[in-house]
Amino acid sequence: MNSLITPATQLVDRFGRQVRYVRLSVTDRCDFRCVYCMSEKMTFLPRDQVLTLEEIGRIAHVFTELGVEKIRLTGGEPLVRRGVLELVDYIGSLGLRDFAMTTNGSQLPHMAKALKAAGLKRLNVSLDSLDADKFRRITRIGDLNKVLEGIDAAREAGFERIKLNAVVMRGRNDDEVLDLVELARERGLDISFIEEMPLGHISDHTRDETYCSSDDVRDIIETRYSLSPTSTQTAGPSRYYAMADSDSQIGFISPHSHNFCGDCNRVRVTVEGRLLLCLGNEHSVDLKEVLRQYPKDNEPLRQTIIDAMDLKPEKHHFTTDGDVQIVRFMNTTGG
Ligand code: SAM
Ligand code: SF4
Repeated sequence: MNSLITPATQLVDRFGRQVRYVRLSVTDRCDFRCVYCMSEKMTFLPRDQVLTLEEIGRIAHVFTELGVEKIRLTGGEPLVRRGVLELVDYIGSLGLRDFAMTTNGSQLPHMAKALKAAGLKRLNVSLDSLDADKFRRITRIGDLNKVLEGIDAAREAGFERIKLNAVVMRGRNDDEVLDLVELARERGLDISFIEEMPLGHISDHTRDETYCSSDDVRDIIETRYSLSPTSTQTAGPSRYYAMADSDSQIGFISPHSHNFCGDCNRVRVTVEGRLLLCLGNEHSVDLKEVLRQYPKDNEPLRQTIIDAMDLKPEKHHFTTDGDVQIVRFMNTTGG
């Protein structure tokens, strides 16, 4: 989005970056256990540490007043949170330019229609493999068919420009890159390929063992299709490419190989109410305390968010050398 024609935001950091995009995590729980995201046995947060849906709604409202134009709901798996449709309905009424959700798709067969009716504008569905056994190995418990049905249900419900997200791991699913591109082309979807990020201690593999750069993925795709850069900007970290004979766009999210911090316009709020100024740093501000101390007054929350902008770091510090730099898991961070 061209910042010259958008209204002023009150959220500007020390490096002049305007924050217009917030990712809100609505739960740390999930019905999958993806190997790159969680350990096999996870302990989830006790209920009193988790924001209520009303509290998440208040945060969304205040961010919108401060100039945020795009909200994405994520998790954990956002669709396993009870009552999430009411939250979608509320945030859908705030007049955002873009309102999206990232989901593993497993609940879409029965929820896609209701999400659309509640005002959700866009969906990203995570899908790393089209082989049912491999899909099960990566997600540990997921059912590929449910996700494929979910994607169809979302298309039938009228969602446009649905985007697939695939984390590519060498030796696990890098042989499926072209199959995933074919699926996107057949069903009129966009697809982003993500480099794995070192969030949380995982037991399945070391991150350097499976690291596959976006350039490697692009080389694989270019064995079949030539890719030309597009001017598409979505306020997210993807760089997009087009194929000559298809509407499907291919994105790359490359935290390692193409540091995306320079034009970062995003912050995240965890389901515990921690405002995270950067995915790859531990800087955070506790919004839950402010919300609970002032249940009827949004002004202190507003001021806390404005002041927090000064803490936004210049860039993340991910490496693939196997060391965990960030101890929180992606499901608690809000991917
Ligand atoms: N459960 C939903 C889903 O899977 O789409 C939303 C939350 S999930 C944490 C959001 C995105 O983060 C997914 O696309 C997932 O593949 C990605 N992700 C999780 N852990 C990651 C990691 N360590 N590195 C890169 N991407 C990761
Ligand atoms: Fe669940 Fe999404 Fe994490 Fe997979 S990536 S375990 S679906 S939160």
